[in-house]
Amino acid sequence: MELAAALMVAVLAVLAYNGVKIMPLLLALTLAYILLKRFEILDKLGSFGPVPGGKTHISEICFDCIGGQAEAKQELMEALDLLQKSHANSLGVRALGGIMLQGPPGTGKTLMARAAANYTDSVFVSAAGSEFIEMYAGVGAKRVRELFAKARRLARRQKKASAVIFIDELDVVGAKRGKVESHMEYDQTLNQLLVELDGIEDQQDVSLFVLGATNRIDLLDEALLRPGRFDRIVEMNLPDYEGRLEILKIHAADKPLAPDVDLGEIAQQTFGFSGAHLANLVNEAAIQAMRRDDDCLRQRDFLDSIDKVQLGTAREGLLSSEEKYRVAVHECGHALISETYFPGSVSTVTVVPRSKTLGFIRQKETSSPVLQTESYLHKQLGVLLAGGTAEQLILGERSTGAANDYQRAVELSELIISHGLSRLGIVNIRNLDKDVLTKVTGEIISERGKEVEQILEQQRSALLAGADVLMRQERISGEEFRKLMCN
Ligand code: ATP
Repeated sequence: MELAAALMVAVLAVLAYNGVKIMPLLLALTLAYILLKRFEILDKLGSFGPVPGGKTHISEICFDCIGGQAEAKQELMEALDLLQKSHANSLGVRALGGIMLQGPPGTGKTLMARAAANYTDSVFVSAAGSEFIEMYAGVGAKRVRELFAKARRLARRQKKASAVIFIDELDVVGAKRGKVESHMEYDQTLNQLLVELDGIEDQQDVSLFVLGATNRIDLLDEALLRPGRFDRIVEMNLPDYEGRLEILKIHAADKPLAPDVDLGEIAQQTFGFSGAHLANLVNEAAIQAMRRDDDCLRQRDFLDSIDKVQLGTAREGLLSSEEKYRVAVHECGHALISETYFPGSVSTVTVVPRSKTLGFIRQKETSSPVLQTESYLHKQLGVLLAGGTAEQLILGERSTGAANDYQRAVELSELIISHGLSRLGIVNIRNLDKDVLTKVTGEIISERGKEVEQILEQQRSALLAGADVLMRQERISGEEFRKLMCN
């Protein structure tokens, strides 16, 4: 539509330039526009571009369909109860503004918004922040107005007392003002959103519940978070063991499972997975069973899908056997030091090359400390250095396979320095001379590297045995690995 308008202006300009009288044409166009607008034809066609909120419906998702997130669900339900009450209170309590769902991708923020619509018996209108932004100034603001108008219209049409408006990726449209290039458009869009949030109370016939979602709350303009706007923040976190088990059960509920399936074990092995990862995992397991022409999903299908979902598709034949042995030695080095510093921490070691990695050790779920001590950080550093050190020890030289480990080791050393845990004492790392920073980082890494080398030398036979097992079977469980270390 924007393009059509721009073209129209260009055509009129060319006509005028060529001496054609454009006034009658202009009048006719204006009249046509007024008539179309009067009968809401443009609105139905999408007016100036698509009205955000293309996804509108009565939501069938309920809070029981969401696994884990018990606290977030409780908090959201309480906030919704409060919203409903404050919209219809006789005590003059200020109505709550919006609710912000914040958390990592795939943790179920969209599901929560849909469940909110179901819970409050509202129509559900959703839009992503990126849908508002166009190159032309003013379009975003217009789309925000239309989204709110559309929610009210739909609620009235469906005879509902309320509508839930869900704005995903809120950071795109709600970033701190003046921080974005082509800021005029972004600022106008955000200003319009603030105006609409402030006007929520004015429309008495339809209550609007505005839910926003973001992975980066730190990017949001403070005006959005002040009382009366998004003044309730609901945190969504990656699920813990219980949460993962619940989510797996929800997604496996409509699938035939073989008696050997132990979802508890799968939940153990999927530390760090989001709800979206887990949904994908169950789906991948079903695909595997279908490929086998089986009539049910087996434990093996789930176990094989874990690596695929997290690390990408297997790349058969990518490595020569020498390279595979190097990867096996490298991963066993990581696993050995991890077990030495954090006993019981290794869940699996694999050397199947995948799109995101050549080999991998999966750690068991451990409650990582909120406050990390100096010794804890040095041990983590040791685990990172162990892969390259094992290669050096067994194969006589390192390879590019350790590049990512070393990058993270440098970052960890800088963290140690910036927290005043190095020999430099309490310093502002930004004011440190670059040479001093490089020297001290090097010292921290080489000191820890020496200790790692000593441990690996003492455990040389376990290192070699682990690498041999991996060459044969490509995967070794934490239990098997710990047995090798004891021999
Ligand atoms: P993003 O931040 O990337 O927009 P999100 O937090 O909004 O992600 P959703 O879109 O709600 O995540 O989740 C994607 C899919 O993952 C859902 O459709 C569902 O299948 C699954 N999922 C995510 N979290 C859960 C959960 N807690 N319980 C059940 N399924 C979940």
